[in-house]
Amino acid sequence: NEEIQLASRPVGLPDEKTFRFVTTEMPTPNEEEILVKTLYLSVDPYMRGRMREGKSYVAPFAIDEAISGGVIGEVVESKSSNFQKGDIVTGMLNWARYQTVNETSVQKVNPSLAPISTSLGVLGMPGATAYFGLMDIGQPKEGETVVVSGAAGAVGMIVGQIAKIQGAHVVGIAGSQEKIDYLVNELNFDAAINYKDPDFKTKLKEACSNGVDVYFENVGGDISDEVFKRLNVNARIPVCGAISSYNNKEIDLGPRVQTLLIQNRALMKGFLVFDYIDRFPEGIKQLAGWMMEGKLKYEETIVEGFENTPEAFEGLFKGTNLGKLLVKVAEP
Ligand code: NDP
Repeated sequence: NEEIQLASRPVGLPDEKTFRFVTTEMPTPNEEEILVKTLYLSVDPYMRGRMREGKSYVAPFAIDEAISGGVIGEVVESKSSNFQKGDIVTGMLNWARYQTVNETSVQKVNPSLAPISTSLGVLGMPGATAYFGLMDIGQPKEGETVVVSGAAGAVGMIVGQIAKIQGAHVVGIAGSQEKIDYLVNELNFDAAINYKDPDFKTKLKEACSNGVDVYFENVGGDISDEVFKRLNVNARIPVCGAISSYNNKEIDLGPRVQTLLIQNRALMKGFLVFDYIDRFPEGIKQLAGWMMEGKLKYEETIVEGFENTPEAFEGLFKGTNLGKLLVKVAEP
């Protein structure tokens, strides 16, 4: 068996010194436990925060211990009356090829409803983040302009599509021409702009000719500054992420936008998807419904092989992914 541990806390972008592959004993389940074979594991931007020491909403990863995150696995041995061999499960598990877990730490995934990988993406944590952040805080109305940054990622592309379903004018911001084309041609965003384009500011202004009513914030930094300049009165800003600062040595202490918030009586509210844990079934049901009606598409970038997990994780900060970034570890 094999697991990936945190070898050292990264300074700046995580690299090969951050991770360590360790060969471990093949575990055997005790009473009320199951042995899980990892099929997919999720790499997520928030995990960069857990590599840092200090107080946060979730404890930091420990040095020389396995990294953990969203995993989909198959039950290969069960000493629990709730699970059978062959069941597909998901939970916050270790980055390991095999592991034993208590029956209470995973949920069953129904493979007949949708491809199992979606339970780490559109029908899982990122989908719920998009749904609750946009609907609860953003509250887009028909005809309003919704801007989303990180628009071609797991959360962002769901946000933009939900905003379209609500009848909004949707503008996405992302980091490559391929992503821009995808958002406009495949997902019917009204406009999408590459933040690396020298004409980014002008293009954003043109795309938001009626101002910005909702800004779903995924990236922070200079990109967001440009959106803030276009806010309308009573704008809402769900603050979901700030990936542009996650590798900074010092925490980014902005915002520098107080005056604009005051002038526009704008609401800027940070949130965590786990705040909505009790309402997850409602959100996932709605997302699945839209998928079945053909109104909501999803995309995944799947990196093959457990050994490529560190590289996949680093890719989040380089923008290698379109949609949800996953590592495929094994076939069921
Ligand atoms: P994504 O699938 O969007 O992957 C990250 C993307 O961020 C990359 O593809 C890249 O796309 C973009 N990116 C990376 N570095 C930068 C940068 N310096 N400036 C601008 N864009 C950058 O990840 P998720 O959808 O999983 O997460 C999106 C955001 O939502 C993150 O900030 C994450 O922390 C946050 N989040 C928050 C949650 C909450 O509960 N509040 C829950 C889940 C996610 P590109 O090519 O466009 O640069």
